Amino acid sequence: MRSVKRFIWLSSVFLVGLVLVAVSPQRVTADGGGHLVVNVRYRAEIPGSDGTYRVFCTRQAWTPRETAVIICDMWDRHWCEGATRRVAELAPVMNRVVSLARDKGALIIHAPSGTINHYRDHPARRRAERAPQATNRPEGIASWCHWKDETEKSVGYPIDHSDGGCDCQPLCKQGSPWRKQIETIRIDDRDAISDSGVEVWNLLEQRGIRNVILMGVHTNMCVLGRPFGLRNLAKAGQNVVLMRDLTDTMYNSRQRPNVSHFTGTDLVVEHVEKYVCPTMTSTVLTGKPPFRFKNDRRPLVVFLSAESEYGAAESLPGFAHELELKHGLRCEILQGSTEKKSDDRHDIAGMEILADADLLVVFARRRAFPADQMAYLRDFLSRGGALIGLRTASHAFDARGSGPKGHAEWANFDPEVLGGNYHGHHGSGPKTAVTAAGAAAARHPILAGVELPLLSNGSLYRATPLAEGTTALLIGTIPDQAPEPVAWTHRFKDSRVFYTSLGHPDDFRAPSFHRLLVNAVFWAIDRPVPRR
Ligand SMILES: [Zn+2]
Repeated sequence: MRSVKRFIWLSSVFLVGLVLVAVSPQRVTADGGGHLVVNVRYRAEIPGSDGTYRVFCTRQAWTPRETAVIICDMWDRHWCEGATRRVAELAPVMNRVVSLARDKGALIIHAPSGTINHYRDHPARRRAERAPQATNRPEGIASWCHWKDETEKSVGYPIDHSDGGCDCQPLCKQGSPWRKQIETIRIDDRDAISDSGVEVWNLLEQRGIRNVILMGVHTNMCVLGRPFGLRNLAKAGQNVVLMRDLTDTMYNSRQRPNVSHFTGTDLVVEHVEKYVCPTMTSTVLTGKPPFRFKNDRRPLVVFLSAESEYGAAESLPGFAHELELKHGLRCEILQGSTEKKSDDRHDIAGMEILADADLLVVFARRRAFPADQMAYLRDFLSRGGALIGLRTASHAFDARGSGPKGHAEWANFDPEVLGGNYHGHHGSGPKTAVTAAGAAAARHPILAGVELPLLSNGSLYRATPLAEGTTALLIGTIPDQAPEPVAWTHRFKDSRVFYTSLGHPDDFRAPSFHRLLVNAVFWAIDRPVPRR
């Protein structure tokens, strides 16, 4: 119950002031399909937690005619050659996405700042100029916004871009070589062109627009700060959302926190989700996995989190953040409902991303996700994608028939994929003493540097006997009971699989458990485990 109340509390706090409709997919289908169904993600601080944030993924139904897409600063040329190349790589994808949004009835606003004069005779330019003066013009909409509020200001940026953010060698010379928007993005006569916050607001008010998608460059600068940027529109009460895969940052990896350019972008996206507004991906319009730059070769770890018992929604974001920051991996979190009984607990969105993923970490409990979403999981495992199951993953997809029509279970996931044999657990109370399952297990790379015994507060799961082909790594013992395996490896077809029944919130605070998980991630993607 605690987490249910928390979820409702956080959701309502975040959504105050936004005008939107949250609906279940069933209701969207039932309303005739005129809506644009979008999945947005944001993060909210857990009250009293001292800075722990959790991820929320929610579904909204937008009326296309009440929706605008703003394309920020997708110039033909940038002073940084690396930035110019990445814009050229983004542009064709953006053009497709924008064209899909336009066909549905959304207004497209091209905002190549500082080059508007190039378009003085374009019908799209005249549309922006001629929009009637808004009756409710928000304060500050005419100027740059440095911080959304004091909270954002006190936190500051997660990356140091004080050098301008050129990642090239030799460094590029700063300047203003842009002349117009890159030609790859077609400007239709039905669109608008403006770099003015006032004109953009006039257009939004004229059309009764409530939802705005921002895409373009650079997230840590213009996308956030421009007069028509994320901060100003969020402050003005628009339901503004960053399309997080169709953006880029100006960030030089040689600057703090010395991570890959693309991790720099992900850190800024996380900042946006915490302090400014929600984000979404282009999957909403394309049905395809999110866009990814060709030079972004970081292995992709996807977390599938949907349970109500063990605070996965609270422990996984911190772990994912650490994998990105310290270990050079790319992480995505698909967060389902944390409610035990609600109708929408079987919903999940965004599993398309598994087509690009190297590893899936499952921490879910008794869910029957939509059949099309589950198909991505089966495809992922058929092509040898690696899997880690945490705690309730043994009964992740065994919903005991509670899923709605069109949803799919995978009741045998435990014996078939994980190699386990979950049949309940011992009562909570006694601490479980966790030790290596023999001398050979102690030498396994997953146990490298893991200090044992580890004491766990989670109740001991019954999993004996394990399926054939498993290798037990850790054994858990409580007084007066037979020991049980609590961590093992398995193979499902060509997939490397690791499972542990550990994963209680206290385990995530234990350095040995942490080490175990980091090792398991690297073992699963077939890379050497990091040194201590
Ligand atoms: Zn450069």
